[in-house]
Amino acid sequence: MERRSLAIRGTVQGVGFRPFVYRLAWRLELRGFIRNVSDGVMIEVEGDRGALDDFEHQLKTSPPRFSTIDACASVSLAVEGTKDFRIETSFVAGAATSPRVTADIATCAACLAELDDPTNRRFRYPFITCAGCGPRLTVVTGVPYDRERTTMAAFTMCGPCRREYDDPADRRFDAQTIACWDCGPQLTWCDPSGMTSSASPMEAAADLLTAGRIVAVKGLGGYHLACDATNSAAVQRLRQRKHRDAQPFAVMFESADAVSAVCAISALEQQLLLASTRPIVLLTRRRHPEGLSLAEGVAPGCATVGAMLAPTPLHHLLLKAAGGPLVMTSGNRSHEPTIAEDDAAVLQLADIADAFLMHNRVIHVRCDDSVTRVANERELPLRRSRGYAPHPIHLPLSSAVPTLAVGGQLKNTFALGYEHDATISHHVGDLDDLTAYRAFMRDITLYERLFNTGPRLLVHDRHPGYASTRYALERAALEGQSTLAVQHHHAHIASCLAEHGTTTPVIGVAFDGTGFGDDGTIWGGEFLIGDLVSVRRAASLRPVAMPGGELAVREPWRMALSHLLDAGEDTTAIRGRVGQGRCRIVTRMIERRVNAPLTSSAGRLFDAIAAIAGLRDAVSFEGQAAMELESLAASVPPDGAYDAAVDGHGEGLVIDTRPVIRAARADHAAGVAAAKIARRFHSGLTNAIVSVCVAIRGRTGLATVVLTGGVFQNALLTVDCDRQLTEAGFRVLRHHLVPPGDGGISLGQLAVAAARSHVCA
Ligand code: ZN
Ligand code: ZN
Ligand code: FE
Repeated sequence: MERRSLAIRGTVQGVGFRPFVYRLAWRLELRGFIRNVSDGVMIEVEGDRGALDDFEHQLKTSPPRFSTIDACASVSLAVEGTKDFRIETSFVAGAATSPRVTADIATCAACLAELDDPTNRRFRYPFITCAGCGPRLTVVTGVPYDRERTTMAAFTMCGPCRREYDDPADRRFDAQTIACWDCGPQLTWCDPSGMTSSASPMEAAADLLTAGRIVAVKGLGGYHLACDATNSAAVQRLRQRKHRDAQPFAVMFESADAVSAVCAISALEQQLLLASTRPIVLLTRRRHPEGLSLAEGVAPGCATVGAMLAPTPLHHLLLKAAGGPLVMTSGNRSHEPTIAEDDAAVLQLADIADAFLMHNRVIHVRCDDSVTRVANERELPLRRSRGYAPHPIHLPLSSAVPTLAVGGQLKNTFALGYEHDATISHHVGDLDDLTAYRAFMRDITLYERLFNTGPRLLVHDRHPGYASTRYALERAALEGQSTLAVQHHHAHIASCLAEHGTTTPVIGVAFDGTGFGDDGTIWGGEFLIGDLVSVRRAASLRPVAMPGGELAVREPWRMALSHLLDAGEDTTAIRGRVGQGRCRIVTRMIERRVNAPLTSSAGRLFDAIAAIAGLRDAVSFEGQAAMELESLAASVPPDGAYDAAVDGHGEGLVIDTRPVIRAARADHAAGVAAAKIARRFHSGLTNAIVSVCVAIRGRTGLATVVLTGGVFQNALLTVDCDRQLTEAGFRVLRHHLVPPGDGGISLGQLAVAAARSHVCA
């Protein structure tokens, strides 16, 4: 006879871990207890030594799905003669201990079967969940994970639910989100005037959607705006009312089969669609869809469509009732954050939605849909949010003190660092929007409370104008934390290094839209060599003027003009399209260096090529021209390349883009199709990246390349660079956990801060 105490750290709350341990203990005839504590679970068990060993072995080797055990400390105790095995009341600790909060989990197969079963008491109940599925992060208000610290605390369990909750043999034993028609959350239906109706809310919503109307639907982490994805008029109406003319809408489908009628899907893509994280998966559309076809306005000009499957029972029921795929775009006004509060939804979406499908379960943490894609049979995350956040990523070097990394300006996420855990927030959004900035501050407070931590170090981007930078500096001035500035592209490279657990020096290829450079110019086409601690610039794209600053992002013709003038090329085509007057003004800005900062941005080079190829002169969101260029390039086979020249010796190589610009303009003038121009540009850029990496390897011996920055959301460029660099003998590191874009900046900032603390220690 022996008694042991096991302190387990990891993701063990909200994943059916307590019921699993309970059943295992009874099966092995062990006595004692299990309780949730802030940073995991505490178990005490007594019994035969063999059974205890078996218990520990099974805990570690076959824990329930979605749980991860990071550490299990086992200590021998005096035998107490306990008579049974119980789940004890959780222990709420005060100190920062790196708690874990589980991400939201899509409805499991067992719950779905009950949802469809007319004899089940939860038949068609939109909030059916069990110990292994349902909302987690979005409803949690504190740790440890118990019903009283979720927004489900507002609902008192009925008798039958209570019996299931207490019954070790039941699937809902210890299920904190347990609910039913009698005791749980309920749907409501209201029109824009706020009038609620007693009619069946689900049927009313489905009827309206079928009739081509727009419905605001309260989901897991916020509101969606929904309409029939096959109805062009409905999709057009949604675009007009949302003032969103081009950005693709995500579409929710009833099943993977329904998706495959519209898109070609690989095995990995299907796996991602069906994963319990339920992300939006960017898929290539079939040229000839089978049966069903989506409205053109869903993703205008895109060869891809963002598809997802229902993450909750509510969505399952809605899709079934509506009888077809639904546009599910974030419920917000243009660039503002997704709305999660009911009052705000009714107020702000009143002139967009024709009606509201709501419910009375409060969303505590707002969380957008995640977006991902597949490049060369590997996942390439584009937005890491619902279903993934706040699952921690392991830092290769531990944080010396509790750290907050505030991220960048666009596509912001922030991250909390505690020992080896990097807890990255859900997607916060673009901080130049004031509402988003307020949400950023509110969500940081919320996470610090949730994760029971007060940071002693604040890490920020080097850009003085970023709202996140100002937040960090102002807060540190008030509260006295230390601060650390990390250069934007160093953070990009560090985020990829952190994902791969790499601490050795590499060649970092950081291609993105904009980032504040060490020399005060705008960087974005960088080859930096170094490690987590520090980097130096080894090569970059040739800098050109960015006339009008941020305006050049919205108007790619400005970058085209700048590059054409830089290359000494003819600008007739551009002048013909946008007018002599505007071109003259912009030319003067470039010549006199007035409001025309220098940039080595790769994102802006994509914009310039798009305009030179005659694709578009203005965009409605950053990266639009690059996305279209990728779509076009992927539609034709490789056929030649616009090769750049690589200048310089020793330190500071420069990729001379002038030959690329000349070749693209000449092709366009000769009537070569835009798709072919796009493809030749991609091939040329790939060649340039490979030859610069080869040159740097020759000088430094470095043979590992990191591909990072928003430009590497481009699957074609990523796959081509990966393949050619691998063929050239490089080890290539790509993103697979966080986005290559600015959503990954916070992780990189944390990794740099942690590594610096090890050097200084
Ligand atoms: Zn379930
Ligand atoms: Zn109930
Ligand atoms: Fe960036």
